[in-house]
Amino acid sequence: MKNQSIGEEANPKRVALVTGSTSGIGMAIAKRLADEGFTVAFHSRSSTTAGEALADAYPGATYTQADLSDQAQASRLISEVVKHHQRLDVLVNNAGINAVIPHDSLKAATTEVWRDLYEVNVIAPWTLISEAEAALQQSSSPDLPSCILNISSHAGVRPKGASIPYAASKAAINQVTRLLALSLAPDIRVNAIAPGLVDTPMTESWEDARRLWQERSPMGRAARPEEIAELAATLISSTYLTGEIVLADGGLNLT
Ligand code: NAD
Repeated sequence: MKNQSIGEEANPKRVALVTGSTSGIGMAIAKRLADEGFTVAFHSRSSTTAGEALADAYPGATYTQADLSDQAQASRLISEVVKHHQRLDVLVNNAGINAVIPHDSLKAATTEVWRDLYEVNVIAPWTLISEAEAALQQSSSPDLPSCILNISSHAGVRPKGASIPYAASKAAINQVTRLLALSLAPDIRVNAIAPGLVDTPMTESWEDARRLWQERSPMGRAARPEEIAELAATLISSTYLTGEIVLADGGLNLT
């Protein structure tokens, strides 16, 4: 039995780490999982005051600061969370960065931009997953497999997005999702959500995108972070779905 070494409780609370969970989509997912009974490990790059306040607001929750552009800090994040909570059931790779560059401005998409986006959007999730694999295996059971959820983007599915390097980084994490769903099954399920425009601090000033969603998308608006969190909760509560990239763009792709 994999759970024997975990602790003395017969049904210990499941633990979910949500990266980038002091704002936007990550905060909505973390709060939703806490409301559903998970013990949540909050994380962010720098907003420690907000993170500590969130951790104080939920029983058993913790907050850890780590800059995920530094892979040593990414590894430390997993070891600190697992050391404190003594288990990990769900890893949500939500933290991400963007760069807004017109697609025909090739010189503006410098090698530095490419490296920065890949470091946070692709390599950090990989580091976190590889460091968390043992703990996720340990807490998994045939009735309740562990779970990884990656937050990618509709830009990783369609030829769209704030810049080509951003879109390529999100396409990469989508492919990582599918490949890992194959190699980590059946103990660990791996899925992704590919949101369209969501109202968060990242997109506050994106007036053109907001107008596009209002005028062209069947739902006539951007998503609220809580709507992405609801989908995240559904994918996390599944005991069967794996390898799915769920597009959540209010139907924009249909137009
Ligand atoms: P946000 O700016 O509110 O949140 C981003 C989070 O990522 C923050 O908590 C921040 O601390 C964290 N982060 C960024 N760089 C980091 C680093 N170097 N180390 C550690 N943490 C770091 O943005 P959001 O819109 O909530 O974005 C969340 C995810 O959703 C991102 O991966 C983003 O690409 C994706 N996404 C957002 C939209 C949208 O329209 N908002 C659409 C598609 C995909």
